[in-house]
Amino acid sequence: MPPKKQPLHVLIVGAGLGGLSCAIATRLSGHRVTVLEQSPSLGEVGAGIQIPPNSSKILFSWDLGPALSAAAVHPEAFIIRSYRDGSELARQQMRGYVETEYGAPYLHIHRGDFHEVLVEKARELGVEIVLNAKVTAIDFEAPAVTIETGKTFTADLVVAADGLKSRCRELFLGRADPPKDTGDLAYRILVKTEDMKQDPLLRELTEVPYVNYWIGPDQHAVCYLLRSSNLYNIVLLSPDTLPPSTPIAPATPSELHALFSTWDPRLTRLLTLSTAATKWRLQNSTELPSWVHASSRFCLLGDACHATLPYLAQGAAMAVEDGAVLGGLLKGIGRGDGLGEVLRVYEELRKKRTTRVVRGSSELRGVFHMRDGEKQKERDRRLRGGERGNPM
Ligand code: FAD
Repeated sequence: MPPKKQPLHVLIVGAGLGGLSCAIATRLSGHRVTVLEQSPSLGEVGAGIQIPPNSSKILFSWDLGPALSAAAVHPEAFIIRSYRDGSELARQQMRGYVETEYGAPYLHIHRGDFHEVLVEKARELGVEIVLNAKVTAIDFEAPAVTIETGKTFTADLVVAADGLKSRCRELFLGRADPPKDTGDLAYRILVKTEDMKQDPLLRELTEVPYVNYWIGPDQHAVCYLLRSSNLYNIVLLSPDTLPPSTPIAPATPSELHALFSTWDPRLTRLLTLSTAATKWRLQNSTELPSWVHASSRFCLLGDACHATLPYLAQGAAMAVEDGAVLGGLLKGIGRGDGLGEVLRVYEELRKKRTTRVVRGSSELRGVFHMRDGEKQKERDRRLRGGERGNPM
């Protein structure tokens, strides 16, 4: 019998959806895992998130199916509507079809609930999560990271999952690398469905869990039910009007009304129910030549290396996939083994796929946001005809 390999100690920076997924997958491969999170408490800001089947398939394989299904809404169908009157341009059945086609469901869930499910699983598996641990320096050879208090943590591998504004990415590159503005922003709004039910125009939107997309000139809206259909999640994607130094700001009801006043009356009526809305600048990052340090003891994951416009609803899904692939590749590896091949394969498998998603999301912006004209008519004709693939 060959001697038993000693498990690695893997240090993950960031307890977001990507960092926690990597923690779970790595722990399931038998390694010791510590997650360093800068925040004083665990949680996720924002409202709803879509979990597409490429992500739910992984999450369900970690036995998270019951917890996620209980917290999520299963959409019946995906509908793309014309901005003017809300008429259907395209409809794709989801419930039933997605499970048969992809072996896992499409889910809508509150980000806080999704995050909580991952935290509970990580803790149940014995992952250590250290809060108030903002990473400020990295020794890529050791490897070791130092947090704001001056405390240093050593490990066999450091995985940086510290999001769009990743400090670790900048340390890795040895220079500033601020996120890039995409030109769009997102308004995020939650409305109570009990308020919608009082309005005959809006009641229908609460009855069946569809994901509704309204597409129109320069902007689009994405809406779906959340939390046992008690909440309606509204995301409005519009041109960025925030001042350069302000990435997030509150939005007024009159501002929302002005932007969508000529759109489907259901959407404009819906926006009158909004009591609080926040707008967020949408940014992504420049594609990096590599995600792996030459020491083969450090790599990037999730938004830290492939932040994207959310138009394909795949950003977190890609981070979950990254975590599952990296954790899976570490199976059977022990202390003292070189990690070069594992990290090379991780990057090879993940970089091409995530680059496609980042580019695809940006291309979809052009398709969704077409101004009225011949190209838009052709797009609508093709959508109505049920043509698959990119409608342009
Ligand atoms: P993050 O979620 O940003 O997590 C990073 C973590 O690292 C945070 O907890 C942070 O506090 C911590 N951190 C940062 N710096 C440090 C440091 N120096 N030291 C220690 N900790 C640190 N994706 C989907 O799959 N489906 C959707 O429907 C969807 N909708 C979206 C809608 C909008 C409007 C937006 C903006 C995004 C959407 N996304 C969606 C994308 C998704 O939110 C992100 O891709 C995903 O959250 C990225 O996860 P992450 O773990 O890589 O990064």
